[in-house]
Amino acid sequence: MKKKKLHKLPQSVVNQIAAGEVVEKPASVVKELVDNAIDAQASKIEVRIKNGGIDMIEVADNGFGIPKEELPFIFDAHTTSKIEKIEDLNTLVSMGFRGEALSAITSVARVNVSSKYVEEEIGNEIDFDEKGKSSVKKTAKEEGTTVRVENLFYNIPARKKHLKTPQTEYRKIFELMNNYYLIYPNIHFILEKDGKVVLDLPVVENSKKGDITEERVGEIMNEKASNFLRVYYEGAGVKISGYVAHPSNHKNVGSKNYMFVNNRPIWDKGIYRAVHEGFSRYIPHGQKIDFAIKIDMDPQFVDVNVHPRKEEVRFENPYRVYSAIEDAVRHTLEKELSFKDTPSKEERNVKDFSSLRQRFNKASTTSSNRAGRGEESGKVYESRNLYSSARSTSVKDSLLFSKEILSSQIKEEDDQQKDLPWEEKMNIRDIFQIFNKYIVIEFTDEKLWVIDQHAAAERINFEKLSKGKNGLDLQNYLVPVEIERTREEAIFLDEVKDFFGNIGIIYEINGNKLILKTVPTALSKSNFEEMFNEIFSLEDNINDLKKNLEKRRDDLLATVSCHASIRSGQKLSKEEMLNLLRELSACDNPYSCPHGRPAVWKLTLSQIDSNFERTY
Ligand code: ADP
Ligand code: MG
Repeated sequence: MKKKKLHKLPQSVVNQIAAGEVVEKPASVVKELVDNAIDAQASKIEVRIKNGGIDMIEVADNGFGIPKEELPFIFDAHTTSKIEKIEDLNTLVSMGFRGEALSAITSVARVNVSSKYVEEEIGNEIDFDEKGKSSVKKTAKEEGTTVRVENLFYNIPARKKHLKTPQTEYRKIFELMNNYYLIYPNIHFILEKDGKVVLDLPVVENSKKGDITEERVGEIMNEKASNFLRVYYEGAGVKISGYVAHPSNHKNVGSKNYMFVNNRPIWDKGIYRAVHEGFSRYIPHGQKIDFAIKIDMDPQFVDVNVHPRKEEVRFENPYRVYSAIEDAVRHTLEKELSFKDTPSKEERNVKDFSSLRQRFNKASTTSSNRAGRGEESGKVYESRNLYSSARSTSVKDSLLFSKEILSSQIKEEDDQQKDLPWEEKMNIRDIFQIFNKYIVIEFTDEKLWVIDQHAAAERINFEKLSKGKNGLDLQNYLVPVEIERTREEAIFLDEVKDFFGNIGIIYEINGNKLILKTVPTALSKSNFEEMFNEIFSLEDNINDLKKNLEKRRDDLLATVSCHASIRSGQKLSKEEMLNLLRELSACDNPYSCPHGRPAVWKLTLSQIDSNFERTY
């Protein structure tokens, strides 16, 4: 084979090679053009796509336009009005910044630009292709800039062949645009596909760049906006904001996830994981959640230029960012779900509370110092009312009521009040079990609850265990229970004795044997063999389990509490059912079991009536 002579590549080929980095697919062209429109301070951007962008991409904006004398040069490589020196890259706020987008595009497609600069009277246009540019011609144009890109890769058949089907390329454009809709609620976007308007998103009133709004989230996720919970956190140099789906809307597959750093769309697995970690107590393991989360931080601590298409980031301190996200999400769920049921936002429960209050006060009329106490309870009530009037009717509201008013208040009650059966104070009319699996409770105030007895028991035990052994009821075995483990497991269990001791599982290790001496009473009849099997299967191997023991504490407690709990299939006495209800009502999160399954299903008589299309 003969060596080829050393030669300099023609500029057009250099450009085409460089273009490969920027222009990989139609969506990358759309991205560059929309970025430019945003940089030109447009408040309305129309994107028109033909045949998946392969035949045509047109982006029209109402931004400040391009001066006539600059028009011929915007497509030269490394021509930009946005940066001057390399340091600018670190602090740059504009979207595009390499000054090479347009030049790259012109080397692989035919381009027409028409623009009217704000300070000029008339608009101008110019054509570009790989061979060069036309002269500047006058054109009728009201405002802004329109860039039309046609016949993508017409001059590079090999690249053109590698494009996916028009549908797929269109889908990528559609997905890309979603990011813009989220970050720019202050921009009116219109998306047109093959001559038809697909989306027309007017400006969200009173919004500004970077505000993730409920309106746009709802549009993009194709869900009711009110199905989302707002996430907000600020501190330690990061600000986290956005929306996550209500846990009841978890999905098997196909969740929609949007992430931004300093308003740039990115994809980062750590962020994805952190959001789902935050959800881990609320949705079943492995389920997925829609979210749109934004991180704002000092640009010094994050590198968004890792990837030529700016899709990835490198955080200087990823752990801090991830844990902030996880905390923010968890905090939102705790706050929202503790007091609020599913969507019915406007529904108020003032009525429910006032009827309970009446009953409560009626009970206290028998008291000797009635005036004082009546006032007292009224006050507590008032504040609950204030609070709940802004919130919805929910299991937790009623449970909170019972927890706060019935337990803390009743402590100070006189004897007569104390003698009132607890279930009467809860307004329970009837309680019974069905299928040895669910507890059904009929309340006098036209409510019906169905409780999953196992899920509820798990929740109760989980919360007890979480609080450590001091609050636990312990039981010593007269004859210790012995469990055989592998050598490796026995060594591990010996090392983490204190960890288990703290949740009331007290044992000694003798060779490969675990000798169980004391356990929480709720656990006394458990199958420990199975329980430890499950604990060891939490991680792939013992080293990981050891390393992550503290991090996996909740999972471990969930596993243990599952074994400690009333099972489904178990017949319960009325006493046991009432106990379960009473304990559940004292939980911080009675909403779900520690694995995220719901524990309580609440119905009202009017819901049941409406199911039978009864209007009276
Ligand atoms: P960059 O955006 O990195 O500066 P581009 O190649 O994308 O590089 O654009 C080159 C220049 O063309 C920009 O700096 C800007 O001055 C001008 N320009 C491109 N598109 C627009 C637009 N839609 N409105 C106003 N000016 C534009
Ligand atoms: Mg640009």
